[in-house]
Amino acid sequence: MTEKTTYSRVMLKISGEALMGDTSFGLHPPTVQRVAREVKSVHDMGVEICMVIGGGNIFRGLQGSAQGMERTTADYMGMLATVMNALAMQSALEELGIHTRVISAITMNEVAEPYIRRRAVRHLEKKRVCIFAAGTGNPYFTTDTAATLRANEMACEAIFKGTKVDGVYDKDPAKHDDATRYDEVSYDEVLQKHLGVMDASAIALARDNDLPIIVFSLDEPGGLRGILAGEGTYTIVH
Ligand code: UDP
Repeated sequence: MTEKTTYSRVMLKISGEALMGDTSFGLHPPTVQRVAREVKSVHDMGVEICMVIGGGNIFRGLQGSAQGMERTTADYMGMLATVMNALAMQSALEELGIHTRVISAITMNEVAEPYIRRRAVRHLEKKRVCIFAAGTGNPYFTTDTAATLRANEMACEAIFKGTKVDGVYDKDPAKHDDATRYDEVSYDEVLQKHLGVMDASAIALARDNDLPIIVFSLDEPGGLRGILAGEGTYTIVH
């Protein structure tokens, strides 16, 4: 059965930690496979899919610099971590029969394609999943900003930001029983109240280009597909 969706092209942003499962570091293959199945279910709807995966399950630049490492070097290490995650996701998606390209912002022709915008658009038109790796290719940025940048370049209709909870709350729902979820919230409110959807540069870039951000739970089986079909709970930042 093919459900209908109004979306034709989306950006899915997930953190590196979302691929960690219950472990405390690195990749948990069954979790990568589970997320790949969620992606497949959306691909089956005919939606063109861009993905950006963080690297926080392996390395974060800020963490390295806090331990005395030079910041830009640490950031490059973080970017390389995202390439490993992207390759793991590519492998899981191709196992499910979905043609996938890893496109790196840092040239490494032996493992991934270089980023050429028009070529990436062509892949999407051919229904290949494009995983944009190595962030923006620049230190001092995050993969949230990379996702927003690529979503704009690829003319995605929205960014789907998968998290552990089903939307944006006024306070941390893991710590406060009375936390309430927003159905919708403006970019400016997110920035003013530090609602922690994405970092400020990513929110500002989305706002300046009218790119909606849909925050949803990646832990909910079928959740992403449901939202694309117009159901489920989430918060839209717009
Ligand atoms: N990073 C960077 N430039 C970018 C994207 C990422 O320097 O454009 C580095 C940065 O050090 C960051 C790390 O890569 O800490 C991993 O990305 P991120 O923290 O966004 O991953 P997530 O928290 O989503 O897993």
